[in-house]
Amino acid sequence: MPDIKVVPLGAGQDVGRSCILISLGGKNVMLDCGMHMGFNDDRRFPDFSYVTGGKGRLTEYIDCVIISHFHLDHCGALPYMSEMVGYDGPIYMTHPTKAIAPILLEDYRKITVDKKGEVNFFTSQMIKDCMKKVVTANLHQTIYVDEELQIKAYYAGHVLGAGMFYIRAGTESVLYTGDYNMTPDRHLGAAWVDKCRPTLLITESTYATTIRDSKRCRERDFLKKVHETIDKGGKVLIPVFALGRAQELCILLESYWDRMNLRVPIYFSTGLTEKATNYYKLFITWTNQKIKSTFVDRNLFDFKHIKPFNRTLIENPGPMVVFATPGMLHSGLSLEIFKKWCTSDKNTIIMPGYCVAGTVGHKILSGMRKIELQPGKVVEIKMQVQYMSFSAHADAKGIMQLTRMCEPEHVLLVHGEAKKMEFLKAKINHELGLECFNPANGETCVISSKPCVPVDMSLKLLKHKTEIVDTATPNPKCSKIIHGALLMKDNKIRLLEQDEALQELGLPKHDLRFTSTVELQNACRSEKLTMTRLYEHLKQLLRSHSVNTTSDGHILIESVLLKVQKDSETAMDVSDDFNTHEDDSPASKSILVSWPYQDEDLGSYLMEVLKNGLPKSVTKLPVH
Ligand code: ZN
Ligand code: ZN
Repeated sequence: MPDIKVVPLGAGQDVGRSCILISLGGKNVMLDCGMHMGFNDDRRFPDFSYVTGGKGRLTEYIDCVIISHFHLDHCGALPYMSEMVGYDGPIYMTHPTKAIAPILLEDYRKITVDKKGEVNFFTSQMIKDCMKKVVTANLHQTIYVDEELQIKAYYAGHVLGAGMFYIRAGTESVLYTGDYNMTPDRHLGAAWVDKCRPTLLITESTYATTIRDSKRCRERDFLKKVHETIDKGGKVLIPVFALGRAQELCILLESYWDRMNLRVPIYFSTGLTEKATNYYKLFITWTNQKIKSTFVDRNLFDFKHIKPFNRTLIENPGPMVVFATPGMLHSGLSLEIFKKWCTSDKNTIIMPGYCVAGTVGHKILSGMRKIELQPGKVVEIKMQVQYMSFSAHADAKGIMQLTRMCEPEHVLLVHGEAKKMEFLKAKINHELGLECFNPANGETCVISSKPCVPVDMSLKLLKHKTEIVDTATPNPKCSKIIHGALLMKDNKIRLLEQDEALQELGLPKHDLRFTSTVELQNACRSEKLTMTRLYEHLKQLLRSHSVNTTSDGHILIESVLLKVQKDSETAMDVSDDFNTHEDDSPASKSILVSWPYQDEDLGSYLMEVLKNGLPKSVTKLPVH
């Protein structure tokens, strides 16, 4: 049976450092190549020696790399992976990701190397060389990595250019969501995928336990908090990622300022964000319909009230609102401003997104009020701390919605906290009846897929089984049993009525028989009881096979129907025979099971299965 193997090198029961290795149909694919912002040591990047064993370049082991979006927890380790560990194969991403990722990587490199003086880090040239290996993917375009491996990008919302990727090799397929959201916001649309029925859905689960309140409520709370603070003469700091929430919250504040006729200045840290706005213009097709249409008469990002920020303004007295990067307060301008403002209880910090463990953002959100901001210098935080989840991730409802949308066979959770995953796992399992996995980093998860083979069905069979046509949409809760013969001929597989199959093969009807021994505690009196005994017996023997009873009293082993033979002279009437053993001692009894006129291959297959499972010998009775 074909398997899919999944090993997270990052984002396994964790948020940050997304990097998931998958093997399917003999191909190895790396999904995202992110960094962990909570660490400054080895743990910052995925451990690629897991793949190479310390020998050779990654190119020998990986067929392709896919980057879902430009956030550093998804692409921050890319130049390290390709230029320092060594990978020359293709790296797939969307056009906006290709345009924006190198800017963020360079920004991150500058902070790490220039400010912290770290050596053994990727250089600007390495970012450039790495980007040369990028192949861009358009939405809904099937890309052939090679003859057997194909990928396709879908719209994920989340941030500009974010994609979900469908990967197919052989009969197996994986849908990897990256980060996504299922509700449109002020500048992006909602994630969408067709009914691609992947063998495995790998989904993020950042907000696995959250069913978020309505967007309007959150926006109102946000505006109220900002207004309260400036009314008291305080300052508001909003740490943001360069792209995404920043633009959305600017649009929100801009219109509020207009409406309320406010005069307090709003600043936006320049540089990155100015460029970012230009990217929205450039990739307008990736935004939502409202932005597309307003761009016709004016640039939605040319703000009247929002001015560029410079460092001299930090010490300015009086109220102000400042948007500054980065979003998790781990370095840069937002942290600089925070250090200056955090000691006054008049000020407010609003955290609009998720913060990974180890960052200052995470510390203040988890309620820490005494933080070592510089080595040896502990500062008491008096500033008011507000968390408002504007970060565009799917909540539990959204994750369920996407899962229903693509109809996977199995689900695997990444990019979330272990505890929250458990809640969602149970929900997916219970509500959708799907097996759900959440491997930790470095843990291999093997998912066996049922191969899907298209089969033509004969008209005769179809006519008799019209109910099958009615249940065109498979529902695992009420699967139908079709009793026919599977015929392989001329490179085609057809499902026929048994008579039709025999005719096609020019074979006469025959029976295959075997005997098996059933331990009897007491004599079985009724046929029904015998059937139950037989069923339990076979189920015991064929533990790894699916054994069921049908409503008309037959036994079904995977696709083979067994019935207790009653109408033939050579076959025993089981119920009668059991009745003759009415002694009190436990007895062993041979029973005869037959199945009618299957083709020989199927018969010998079943014989093999039964033989291996049986403690005592099996006799194949002569065919007649
Ligand atoms: Zn993201
Ligand atoms: Zn992420």
